[in-house]
Parts: sequence; structure tokens; C-alpha cells
Amino acid sequence: MASVESLNGHDHETTFVVAFDGSLQEVEAREEYPSIKVGYLQIAGVAVDLPAFFAARTGPFIDPRRLAKASQSQIINAALPSANIPARDGGTVTENWRREVFETFSRQGVDDFGTGTISLLDAIYYLHGSPEVRADTITVGVCPYKTEDDCSAKFIEVPPEGTSCPTCGRVVWPTDVLRTHEEFDEEGSNLTPLTRLMNSAERLLCVAYLTGFAKTAPSLLSRIAFVTDGPLAFFGTTAKLKSQMISFLSHLNNMLLQRGMPPPLLVGIEKSGLFVDHAHAVTKAIPAGYLVNLDELYIRQRVKRKTSKGLYGVDEFYGRRFFFKTTSGNTLVVTVPRISGQPYGDSPGCDSLDEYPTLRPILRLLDRIETRLYPDAVIPIALAHSAAALPLGTGSDVLQILAKDLITLSAGGRDSS
Ligand SMILES: [Zn+2]
Repeated sequence: MASVESLNGHDHETTFVVAFDGSLQEVEAREEYPSIKVGYLQIAGVAVDLPAFFAARTGPFIDPRRLAKASQSQIINAALPSANIPARDGGTVTENWRREVFETFSRQGVDDFGTGTISLLDAIYYLHGSPEVRADTITVGVCPYKTEDDCSAKFIEVPPEGTSCPTCGRVVWPTDVLRTHEEFDEEGSNLTPLTRLMNSAERLLCVAYLTGFAKTAPSLLSRIAFVTDGPLAFFGTTAKLKSQMISFLSHLNNMLLQRGMPPPLLVGIEKSGLFVDHAHAVTKAIPAGYLVNLDELYIRQRVKRKTSKGLYGVDEFYGRRFFFKTTSGNTLVVTVPRISGQPYGDSPGCDSLDEYPTLRPILRLLDRIETRLYPDAVIPIALAHSAAALPLGTGSDVLQILAKDLITLSAGGRDSS
């Protein structure tokens, strides 16, 4: 345990917070057998001007109109074909899903920088290169037709427009690197691949912002905090992107260091899950203004009691987890990237607080922007959360109507081809 004030680290003058959140829903467009499902995703990046935000705060209250003026959102949304929607060109349901994922990622992204849109697909290529130079191709580890057609092709180099598999000759999209098709169910629910997509899109949107600032106004980067909903990690089929993210961030920090600027502040905040439950259970033992550095042994013995294979977090995390108790008594579960290198595993020094020089400015900032309106949340995340929210309840009728339209379009396209 350590007090925030005892930490070494830069003193940032943070003037902007960009927060990311997403939501998803799967809607049944036809209930009778075989049921037809459509998945919806909405991702929001919300930029909050901190001086304007603090001006909107009077005592414990916030003037919503002034708060709205202090923030700006970038919304990404997608309707994705789920169960039983075949492709317009007669392809399979899985092929339809893969192509829609590719098209969504190609079309949508950030257009705030006056350099044209930096799409989620562009972000994948910057992630595999550096903030300054994007990779020309990325490697898709196994052919997407491995299971279906027994194609044995491995390590396929894919340019942004896609390519043909050198072995089976069928199309490989760059977004196949996310491998969501491996968990896709042609006839059932697809909440798992939708969740993977949503989480990757949130993190890639952050990469798009980091790239946009690095290209147009690098000096601003040191004055912005990027807050992601959930841990700084890529899970399941998308886990390979973790290593790319560590190297991308290391490039970015080096680039700034050469110009004498501190690294940008990046943090993930968890709203639910095993670690949030545990943080609540031990909150009495943490003094306000202190953080707990969760080491391997603690996680193994106290949080995740099941013995898991291998070292915790090594495959997924590009940040390290900490518990932090704010001065008003909220306990936050945060992940923060290491200055360079792996935050977990046998990488020397990964458990030393000195390797996380952004911790102090991040925690001091979170202390200022937390809110009692939502437990364990900070205002920018709450704003991103409402910006990303899909219509619920009676509102989901809208999604059903949209879903029916999508299917009619798809069927119409098929008839005419
Ligand atoms: Zn193939």
C-alpha cells in the first residue's frame, strides 16, 4: 500500500479528458424458427474540457447545460448480422458477419483532426506500426477458413483492403485479426463475439485519438487523460493485440520523451466484476488517498482463488491493476500502463511503482473528477456511458424495426443478384 502523494511521477497539467465506453444489444428480428438476430454496437468517445467542466461544478452539484457545453462526443455505431442472416452475395452467415465487421471498422472512426477520418481499421494498422508510421500489412495468424474448409494457411499478410488466402484463395479481411468469427454461432446468440468487438472498438478508438493527436498536436497529448471503461486489456480471441498495444504505447512515450514531454495519461476503470467486488470487500482496510499494488501472489490467493494456468494477466493486460481509494471514500479499480514493457509476468521491475510514473497524476485527476452520482465512476466515463447507451425498454422496438429493415435490404439484395 502507498499514498498517492508518496509516488514519484510527472506533474501533468491535464486540460482534457477523453473517455470511452460502449454498449451492445442483440435483437430478435424474427422470433419463429429459425430465429433471425441482429447485433447492435454503440461506442462513444467523449472529450471533456476540464476548466469548463470545473466551472460547471458548483459545490456538489453540476450544471448539466454547462457540462454539455464542456463536452464533445464521437459516436460509432453498427448493426451486425447475427444468427441466420446470409450474405447478399450468397455467402455464409459467418462470411456476412466478417464482411460487416470489416466494413464497419473501415467506415467509422474519429474525424476531429482535419486529416480525414482515422478509422478503426486505420487504428489497427497504426497499432501494428507506430503513432507516426502505420504498418503496410498485418499478420492474420490462421486462415478464417481453417475450421470450415480445413485450410492450413498460417501467418497471412493482409493489406488494409483485404487479400486472398495463398492456400484456399478465399478472401481474408484485416479485421479477421480479431478472430471474432471463431466464436460466432450461425444459429444462436452472439453476445460473446459482440462483446469482443465492442471492447476492441473502444480501445481502437483510443488508438485513433492517440494517433490523431500524435500527428497533429503532439504537445497536447501530455495534457490529455484517456479513460477507458474496463481494464486496459484485450481478452479472448483478441488477446494478441495486447503486445501490439504495449509496443505502440512505448513508441508514443519515446516520441514524446524526445521532445521533452511526459507521456499521456491512460487509465482503465472497472465498473463490475471480481476485482470490483473484492475492492469493496477490503475497502475498510484502505485509507483514503492510498493505492494497493496487486501482486501475482495476492491476486492468486485473495482475488482469483481458482489456480489459473500460467502467470496472471500476462496474455491480456497492457496495464497493471491497482485499487485506489479516493479522498471521498470511493474505491476504484484502475489499470495503468507501465512506462515501457509488460505490466505482468516475469518481466523485471513490472511490479515496481516507479515503473508507473503516470499513476500519481492519474489518481490525483480521478480524485477531482469522481462523482457520487454513480458509484465507482468518474464524470467523463458517466458521460461516455450515456452517449454510448442504446435505447432500452420500449426504445428497443426501434432496434427491432431497424433489424427488420436490415433483413429486408439483405433479402432484396440477394433477390436482385
Ligand atoms: Zn485459406
